[in-house]
Amino acid sequence: MIKLKPGVQRGLGRTTEDAERLNGPIPYGGYKNALFLSCCESNAVPLLLQRKYWRCNHMVQNPGNLVPPSGTPGAVGAEIERAYEAGVRDFVVCGHHPCTVVQALVAPEASPPSGPSMAAWLAQAAETTRVVAASYAGLDPQARLEAAAQVHVLAQLQNLLTYPALAAGVEDGTVALHGWVANTALGQLLHYDPAEGQFMPWLRTVMKVSSR
Ligand SMILES: [Zn+2]
Repeated sequence: MIKLKPGVQRGLGRTTEDAERLNGPIPYGGYKNALFLSCCESNAVPLLLQRKYWRCNHMVQNPGNLVPPSGTPGAVGAEIERAYEAGVRDFVVCGHHPCTVVQALVAPEASPPSGPSMAAWLAQAAETTRVVAASYAGLDPQARLEAAAQVHVLAQLQNLLTYPALAAGVEDGTVALHGWVANTALGQLLHYDPAEGQFMPWLRTVMKVSSR
């Protein structure tokens, strides 16, 4: 499994206390008031989690599970702000591997944007492209794409911190951010552990059922 280099984890916590704040207890089998953001390509995973493990009441899907920075016009930021206002305090960004949008971000020569709207959309995720080029260029294409899926989720968590209410909530411990990657190549759902600075295996059985 890919091990991330330090860098994109900045500001997402490094201690056990941070881990509990940023990646709080998993409500396995229970109700949770949460916003779940995932890629359009991977709807089986959130739907299964919604029904069986994590009953989210705010679902957002877009190409590549992007979180545009606060103040960017569009539905994603509006729903983040609306969910917070409605009482949501857990925000999950669920990436997946392999993802064609992440592929387009890290290897645009092989997977060019499908049109001008997609090119403009992808430009909002330039941080993923930058970090992968700077730190993971030496990996083989498959490993680089696996690392990119994880880097990309952490970059989106960084963007969640640009929302003032969420940043303040993380600071005082009332808001938790969760980074997940559904790795269908490994057959596992990984979650980001801030204390380790790495994604760790979490649910295997879910992926066995939901991968497609
Ligand atoms: Zn995808």
